[in-house]
Amino acid sequence: LRGLMMDYPLTVDRLLDHAYKLYPHKRVTTKQPDGSIHRYSFADLYHRVKRLGNVLHKLGINQGDRVGTFAWNNYQHLELYYAIPCAGAVCHTLNIRLSTEQLAYIINHAEDKVIFVDATLLPLFSKLADNIPAVETIVLINAQPGIETPFPNVLHYEDLMAQVEAEFDWPVTDERQAMGLCYTSGTTGNPKGVLYSHRSLYLHTMGENQATALAFTPDDIVMPVVPQFHAMAWGLPYSAMFAGADLVMPGLHLNPVALADLIADEKITFPAGVPTIWTAMYQELRANPRDFSHVRCLAVGGAAMPRGLIEAYERDFGVPVLHAWGMTELSPLGTISSLQPQHRQLSDHERWDLRAKQGYPIGGVELRIVNDAGEELPWDGTTVGELQARGPWVTAGYYKVEPTAEHFTADGWFRTGDVATINHEGYLGITDRTKDLVKSGGEWISSVELENTLMGHAKVTEAAVIAIPDERWSERPLACVVLTKDAGEVEPSELLEYLEPLVAKFWLPERVVFVSEIPKTSVGKFDKKVLRARYANGELG
Ligand code: ADP
Repeated sequence: LRGLMMDYPLTVDRLLDHAYKLYPHKRVTTKQPDGSIHRYSFADLYHRVKRLGNVLHKLGINQGDRVGTFAWNNYQHLELYYAIPCAGAVCHTLNIRLSTEQLAYIINHAEDKVIFVDATLLPLFSKLADNIPAVETIVLINAQPGIETPFPNVLHYEDLMAQVEAEFDWPVTDERQAMGLCYTSGTTGNPKGVLYSHRSLYLHTMGENQATALAFTPDDIVMPVVPQFHAMAWGLPYSAMFAGADLVMPGLHLNPVALADLIADEKITFPAGVPTIWTAMYQELRANPRDFSHVRCLAVGGAAMPRGLIEAYERDFGVPVLHAWGMTELSPLGTISSLQPQHRQLSDHERWDLRAKQGYPIGGVELRIVNDAGEELPWDGTTVGELQARGPWVTAGYYKVEPTAEHFTADGWFRTGDVATINHEGYLGITDRTKDLVKSGGEWISSVELENTLMGHAKVTEAAVIAIPDERWSERPLACVVLTKDAGEVEPSELLEYLEPLVAKFWLPERVVFVSEIPKTSVGKFDKKVLRARYANGELG
């Protein structure tokens, strides 16, 4: 017997309609390239999205066509986030920090027809001029009239907007139609495209808004510091607006001073970014404190947030940290580390320990850990296994790639490439990425845990651990450490003595090397590939 409920398509235009009808007065604020502030309402955005639908139509964009964006977080990029899917096309966010070769590969692989480019990024984008012959049109955002470019067909965003009608009917009726395309950074092999559907995005939006997840309300002012080209800015532009939360877009102003000022001036309740952003901002806040009493959650994900930093934000500034785990392949939100009633009686230190875990799965995400034979392992908080996921916003395959056993199990789970523990309450502890584990004498050493413990030392700002070859043990850990500015002279022995009571003896790094900075990936994570290459070249001593 089939249920008798409506077959209501879960499409992006319905998310937008809801935001507009219920919260037309709510605001989107953007810090523009010149530092000035642009503000407008959800109603203004809505009408411009309709215009943009007509612009896309005029540019020859048909259902399913891929439309690229090469831009900072700003209101125009937000308009594209809605208009492209609402017009039936696929919003392909391009990571501005990738190499020219990788970008050309991705654009050609996706067959982008039109690309919207922030004028401030034109020098970077112009390097692609000879490599993307199939792109028909470039549309410049925020450009001065008469700007020179090496592309044959260049139009201007505001000119196009002025030339079209404000009325536009949303054409998408099938919730399974693609709406967004995001390539993973390709740490191994070529980047792989994750193709979101309207349905997966809609459900992810509802998932993020659960009271046990991000729980946005009209009281919130959300700032995605995470770029719109990194895993759809974690879905925040959709989930925040759907719940009537204001949005603040930092544009290209991503240095710690600018971010701290924006959080204070705009009374942000929910700033969200990767750990390296908040590590740098912590130093700034120590030097120049700001009033952050309105911040209900400093959200962090994309890499492990060091426990010491979680503690420091709460202890020094009263700012609670919300640690989350996700992946581009999961749209991206998988788990969040919030506390439950049974944790109220925990000591401060026990609470910080728990918050430093990646958290429990949000409703809609299923996780399991398995051994090499594919057998499910217990949720006991100590057994380590390969992490697998499934759910309505988990990818079922990469764009134009046949699904293989490397990424998917025979019984339909996605293999994350992470290794983890899960405790009896479902809290996930990411031990490592499979490729970053250190294998010493047949035992695994978690580089993530070693790094976090090292970063708990008062004189250490950043620490990254890589495996180095060892004749006797096969691999041993090497720690690359960045000291705080006022650390003075520090010997490796000081750090090893500090670690000794905190980790197993065989985990103690074989060597500690002091470096001026840890290289970062295109999305701001520690780039261990580069560190491994430097070690191989003899650059790390
Ligand atoms: P990229 O491959 O470019 O880093 P993603 O942002 O999709 O792309 O990376 C997802 C990976 O980031 C996860 O598989 C995991 O290894 C890591 N990750 C994400 N969040 C966390 C976290 N809170 N703690 C530890 N690792 C994390």
